[in-house]
Amino acid sequence: MGQLQERYKNYREPQKFMAAGVYPYFRAITSKQGTEVEMEGHKVLMFGSNAYTGLTGDQRIIDAAKAALDKYGSGCAGSRFLNGTLDLHIQLEKELAEFEGKDDCLCLSTGFSVNAGVIPAVVGRGDYIICDDRDHASIVDGRRLSFAKQLHYKHNDMEDLENLLKTLPYEAVKLIVVDGVFSMEGDLCKLPEIVELKHKYNCSVMVDEAHGLGVFGKEGRGVCDYFGLTDEVDLIMGTFSKSLASIGGFIASDSDTINFLRHTCRTYIFSASNTPAATAAALEALHILKQEPERIEALWKVTNYALRRFREEGFEIGDTESPIIPLYVHDVDKTFLVTKLAFDAGVFINPVIPPACAPQDTLVRFALMATHTEEQVERGVQALAKIFREQNIIK
Ligand code: PMP
Repeated sequence: MGQLQERYKNYREPQKFMAAGVYPYFRAITSKQGTEVEMEGHKVLMFGSNAYTGLTGDQRIIDAAKAALDKYGSGCAGSRFLNGTLDLHIQLEKELAEFEGKDDCLCLSTGFSVNAGVIPAVVGRGDYIICDDRDHASIVDGRRLSFAKQLHYKHNDMEDLENLLKTLPYEAVKLIVVDGVFSMEGDLCKLPEIVELKHKYNCSVMVDEAHGLGVFGKEGRGVCDYFGLTDEVDLIMGTFSKSLASIGGFIASDSDTINFLRHTCRTYIFSASNTPAATAAALEALHILKQEPERIEALWKVTNYALRRFREEGFEIGDTESPIIPLYVHDVDKTFLVTKLAFDAGVFINPVIPPACAPQDTLVRFALMATHTEEQVERGVQALAKIFREQNIIK
């Protein structure tokens, strides 16, 4: 037996949940994405998606992706740096920079690779990187890859952040990185206070707009725009895997910083560029987002309906202010059980357990799309209320 096999033969965590019949992961979808999908021969209402704008099945995007496939082929077979740049990539970067109110932008092949590559490129030895302790895993990994000194503060606790900043040298480069919308709890970062601290303690700020894009601000530009603080944020990252109905990510900033990243960011240079179809899909989704602000209105209408109904039914939903609604369970086994019972009742939701949350804060994550109807939400709320009551999670 090999060393690794020897070490991992006793890794049986998933099997424990499989044996109990509640293993919730890797269920295959066998239909087009939308508010209702087919999974394992079972029709379910989809409340587990990040497609806030509801654009993943939009025919205009599918057609744009098909046209790009026909024109450019299936892949780019190289780095943006060398043979992997298409005019489509450049156009998308230009339009995203404009949309985000920044000078320039780089597109990468996933949002994860943006955080994992940009953070260690911009800060290094002698610098400081400071994160909220609920920041996304890709920010944590970007932080770990950096040679900067790593620090974090309690979630959204501005006093804790200030106490930390007080101890750091004023002249040192200090980068604060936060999720604009926290992906599991749905609450927002306290950007106005963070920007105040940025000035007081001479820092830079990076905001991850993965869950803000398509949801907050004018035309869905994100949380930075929502707070009117775009100019105060040094680096804005976003992804195409949620509101932009595709896969990929971007970083937007001033032209000097982007010029530096274009020539040094390792996940940009040493990784192949995004496929023609994915790039064209994101570009078309961006156009639709700009042309159809009523999508964001529809998303908020259905979000407000769901928030009200979950509160009325007595669910504990924390401090969410977004289409991400955490339904707290506070127990790992029960979280898996509830997920399975909901699936059986035709409602797909995501279980959230450590390391995605603190051990005592397990939850199921209910997320809205602009294309959900109130009737669908009502069906979801009622099914979940029945299950949560039967399991004694709510009264
Ligand atoms: N940042 C946040 C806050 C996220 O939630 C995610 C994806 N879950 C990412 C970054 C990574 O984005 P992608 O899926 O495009 O790799």
